[in-house]
Amino acid sequence: MTELDPAAHVNIAAPGRECGSCTLCCKVYDVPSLEKPAGRWCSHCLPGRGCGIHETRPTHCRSFFCMWMTDGAMPPEWKPDRCKFVLTVDGVTRFLNVQVDPGSPNAWRAEPFQTQLRQWAAMLMQEQRFVVVFLNKSATIVLPDKDVALGVLGDGDRVVPYRQLTPRGPTYSFDVIRARAS
Ligand code: SF4
Ligand code: SF4
Repeated sequence: MTELDPAAHVNIAAPGRECGSCTLCCKVYDVPSLEKPAGRWCSHCLPGRGCGIHETRPTHCRSFFCMWMTDGAMPPEWKPDRCKFVLTVDGVTRFLNVQVDPGSPNAWRAEPFQTQLRQWAAMLMQEQRFVVVFLNKSATIVLPDKDVALGVLGDGDRVVPYRQLTPRGPTYSFDVIRARAS
């Protein structure tokens, strides 16, 4: 079983894990120190080969490992260059973040991924944690039975869940608390 406990995620690769030809994190995330936006290849990336400035790459890049790299239990089809999204557990919110390749925006809806994401959503909800799919900066919460689109999240915006009890069990709605007034 894949470990979703943030405390279990150290910033080192699990035995046997290598990025190999994957460079997807160099596309899907923003890198503020390079003014690189989310969803576009970094100008230093050699897609399928690696980083063109490996020795001098920013700290942000040096310290990054996706969940496929740190969790040796994740099956091979979850490698980011195959599934077309990158998984991380947010160290602050402890949410499971799914950062999708904008070239394959519905990749997370394919199987076996969507079913597994909904199963993780059911498990994490019990700890007030959620699965959040990002397409660039646009966020969607994945619940066990539906998806909730939140729109674009800015830096520092917080997602606040509200739990309601119903005869069929708890349901959730969400507010976004903006870091900056629009
Ligand atoms: S997404 Fe993961 S496997 Fe792919 S290059 Fe980045 S750290 Fe390596
Ligand atoms: S600097 Fe290198 S490691 Fe960092 S995003 Fe660009 S290509 Fe990737």
